[in-house]
Amino acid sequence: MSTTTTLTTIHHFINGAETTGEGDRTQPVYNPATGQVAAELRLANEADLNTTVAAARKAADSWGDISLAKRTAVLFKFRELVAAHVDELAELITAEHGKVLSDAKGEIGRGLEVIEFACGIPQLLKGDYSDQVSTGIDVFSFREPLGVVAGITPFNFPVMVPLWMAPMAIATGNAFILKPSERDPSAPMLLAKLWKQAGLPDGVFQVLHGGKETVDGLLTHPDVDGISFVGSTPIAQYVHETATKQGKRVQALGGAKNHAIVMPDADLDNAADHLAAAAFGSAGERCMAISVAVAVGDAADLIVKKVEERALAIKVKNGTEPDADMGPVITPASKERIVKIVTEAETAGAAMVVDGRDLVVPGHEEGFWVGPTVIDHVSTEMTAYTEEIFGPVLVVVRVEDLEAGIKLINSNPYGNGTAIFTSSGANARKFQRSVTVGMVGINVPLPVPVAYHSFGGWKNSLFGDKHIYGPEGVSFYTRGKVITSRWPEPTHVSGASYNFPSN
Ligand code: NAD
Repeated sequence: MSTTTTLTTIHHFINGAETTGEGDRTQPVYNPATGQVAAELRLANEADLNTTVAAARKAADSWGDISLAKRTAVLFKFRELVAAHVDELAELITAEHGKVLSDAKGEIGRGLEVIEFACGIPQLLKGDYSDQVSTGIDVFSFREPLGVVAGITPFNFPVMVPLWMAPMAIATGNAFILKPSERDPSAPMLLAKLWKQAGLPDGVFQVLHGGKETVDGLLTHPDVDGISFVGSTPIAQYVHETATKQGKRVQALGGAKNHAIVMPDADLDNAADHLAAAAFGSAGERCMAISVAVAVGDAADLIVKKVEERALAIKVKNGTEPDADMGPVITPASKERIVKIVTEAETAGAAMVVDGRDLVVPGHEEGFWVGPTVIDHVSTEMTAYTEEIFGPVLVVVRVEDLEAGIKLINSNPYGNGTAIFTSSGANARKFQRSVTVGMVGINVPLPVPVAYHSFGGWKNSLFGDKHIYGPEGVSFYTRGKVITSRWPEPTHVSGASYNFPSN
């Protein structure tokens, strides 16, 4: 007996409803743990893009005018709904991304923090007032929404990264169009439904699926006022250049090569625990993953041994298994690329400490697996050092002292996150003051800022001026207006003055 399975189709969410759209192209969405196609995704065409932007434009006009009290009520409700759907969202993330369920819940938790911060929008939008700046004249300033903003997001955080953007954009009075990654689009669709359930008017949050064509459409559409992008560096740079040329406000967060310095004075067991977690958690597919351990002096042999022990103990399984520590990588192409880079390092003379290239997970032979991999004696010319691997690979570069470690980090073109493991306050302070990286951890390997600080790297990890979420998010999604006002007394007799106004 033959069984036929019908593939689920993932639609767009336009103007308050799920819709097939007019574009007739589709793309498969995989379950990376099984290697099977799980759904087909509708891709937008130009007509879909125009419909979405028109709905956003219309919605922005009324949403930007609605009272702060009403906006806040929707945000509070949305917060409750997301919290109530953590399990469902996590299952969708794991099914399409592959990360383990507990990690998926972790990313939703970080997204919730941003919604909670956005719930305080009345306080965040309070303006400034200067009384009597000149005789009878007052000046006040406040911030207004940009209008229509689009968010283009990567595969590795299908809930958290959209939530870095949308709650801030919506709280500040904008309409938001999400163009999520084509690889794991189901969780963002559930977010759209939760926004609607929370009472958000139609058109204020929409989801449009597509690839380069759709992104280009958003970057050049005259009715899109701002672009938030998170993804790889070449695309971030392209998005920044293309959209700024169109006069749009742009923040484009790119890739990373995050180094962690391990000093001989560090608690090496603690450092090894954190290094392993930061390198192999989520299969290394985090923009804040530690991918380079910079082992200083005598720390090197000891830390390599300790990380090796931890890497060998990691349980790599389907992320739905309760005891899984790490899941698969996102695509066969990603696996192939990771394996190629590891092999190049081996050929160039690096030492393979743990080799995850040939990992097979029983019962899931078709999945996209790479096991934890540790490579020692890596030099700065090897692709394992120069490329962002975005897989479960930790490379170890050995240096003589802290100064050499800082020099190495500062010479790297990326500047997203970095960390130092040390028990010396003096070392930590020297590091935090001299390193040219946006987010710095002291005995904290993944220094992702809480929602009331902003998130952003330096150098090739961010193009644009503003970091994402937090106070800089408020500033990014709004523009300032300054009012200078005079209310002459009815009895006042004035004559024209042709000089530049003075006090
Ligand atoms: P990606 O750059 O391939 O894709 C990101 C988005 O851009 C997707 O929505 C995709 O559809 C779109 N896109 C892809 N190619 C495009 C093109 N040629 N023109 C226009 N749009 C295009 O990134 P990814 O593989 O989905 O995500 C992984 C990358 O994201 C890594 O480099 C990682 O470091 C980075 N990342 C950075 C941060 C950060 O905060 N700096 C956070 C998460 C991920």
